[in-house]
Amino acid sequence: MARERLYLFDTTLRDGAQTNGVDFTLNDKLTIAGLLDDLGIDYVEGGYPGANPTDTELFGKPRKLDTTFTAFGMTRRPGRSASNDPGLAALLDAKADAICFVAKSWDYHVRVALETTPEENLASIRDSVRAAKTKGREVLLDCEHFFDGYKANPEFALACAKAAYEEGARWVVLCDTNGGTLPHEVEAIVTEVCKVIPGDHLGIHAHNDTEQAVANSLAAVRAGARQIQGTLNGLGERCGNANLVSIIPTLKLKPEFSKQFEIGVTDAKLKDLLHVSRALDEMLNRAPNRHAPYVGESAFATKAGIHASAIMKEPKTYEHVPPETIGNRRKLMVSDQAGRSNVLAELDRIGLKVDRNDPRIATLLDVVKEREAIGYAYEAADASFDLLARRTLGKVPNYFDVVQFDVNVEQRYNALGERVTVSMAVVKVKVGDETLISAGEGNGPVNALDVALRKDLGKYQRYIKGLELTDYRVRILDAGTEAVTRVLIESQDETGERWTTVGVSPNIIDASFQALMDSIIYKLVKAGATA
Ligand SMILES: [Zn+2]
Repeated sequence: MARERLYLFDTTLRDGAQTNGVDFTLNDKLTIAGLLDDLGIDYVEGGYPGANPTDTELFGKPRKLDTTFTAFGMTRRPGRSASNDPGLAALLDAKADAICFVAKSWDYHVRVALETTPEENLASIRDSVRAAKTKGREVLLDCEHFFDGYKANPEFALACAKAAYEEGARWVVLCDTNGGTLPHEVEAIVTEVCKVIPGDHLGIHAHNDTEQAVANSLAAVRAGARQIQGTLNGLGERCGNANLVSIIPTLKLKPEFSKQFEIGVTDAKLKDLLHVSRALDEMLNRAPNRHAPYVGESAFATKAGIHASAIMKEPKTYEHVPPETIGNRRKLMVSDQAGRSNVLAELDRIGLKVDRNDPRIATLLDVVKEREAIGYAYEAADASFDLLARRTLGKVPNYFDVVQFDVNVEQRYNALGERVTVSMAVVKVKVGDETLISAGEGNGPVNALDVALRKDLGKYQRYIKGLELTDYRVRILDAGTEAVTRVLIESQDETGERWTTVGVSPNIIDASFQALMDSIIYKLVKAGATA
């Protein structure tokens, strides 16, 4: 049976740019548009030409993309003609394949916010759609506050949607602008709208204020809508927009949707989803959400021992979809609750071949439990576990020794008379017969230590060139009689692989030093360096 086509519309660069603390440069926007295009998203909304210099420049020349590159803007202002509205003119001049207009569809907003009449609002929709069609653009109309408007005055909300459809708009998009509508309401209202406008001309634009933007989008599809608008990682104002990173795998992997619908994202591209999600986080300098559905680091992580042994026998017992389909992986966490099966599975994953009856496995399990009791957290620190396992099984070369280090924090006045705090570190390392001394400066003692430690590792330097620290987290733990500090460091290398290491000590510098050392040694092991 032929499947129906569902269209995906991404608004990360427009609605997503409304997120607190998010500020895309032109280059960021082009990079993200490229990722979305490559993924197979049908529409990419780039921004609001005329509203700011970045978006004006973005639409200043044609962009070579397969996706329908879309400009966003307002319908003509009340009381003006379409040919005498500078905002509309900027939008019509934009080098875009499609134009998405936003218009009010709640009579209350028309009266209070626009201070105009319902008739003038409808005329503005018709004139704007016509003007864009005349320019040869594909046209979409975002009906702002559609669901609240429909509840207050269904005739007027429908009249706005119909005005755009009858004038030739390809899509009429029903927006839950305040994000407060619930899935059963969306399903009921979209069902009614489908009686007036064919569902293959209807889109859904849901906000996440009751954490149901994804559910609302799927409810709209069930009721007949055939375009879904959303953003990467659910970026967006307040609580965000519908998260395409959750919607895409749901449409692809859940039979209720995959049997009936086809989307532009292929099975092969679906495997890139995790990468695309992380790439956006990286650009925004945000730590990825570990608990994000499908793509989070914990999305397929299992802790308890009995679950782990079942997963190893038959993954489907505890997994709703295969993690590899979205580029993720199964993770069996090693922790104080862990049984042998977690440890064995983790050894398999890191590629350490060992006899299942080897007595050293019991030793490793004991060491993990002892160390977790004093504050180490191996479930969060995969790379430190990897090293611990290799050491217990006798397989980590002794690359170098840190003979001594010294860290110094100084607060003083600089030449401009400003009070500054400066950190300096000196590290003495022995690599083979060679002794190397390096100094580093940083914005804090750990940063300075990291700089000094990685400045010169002699013959190993080439392996750690691409190594960088991406996250540093500190927690004070109450371990028995005294407080200790746990440091988790996340690192990344030139291949984009990330790993986490852990250090524990009453002294924060010492804990950080352990985690830094583990990170470097893990990288050397991974690169196949020999002592
Ligand atoms: Zn929105």
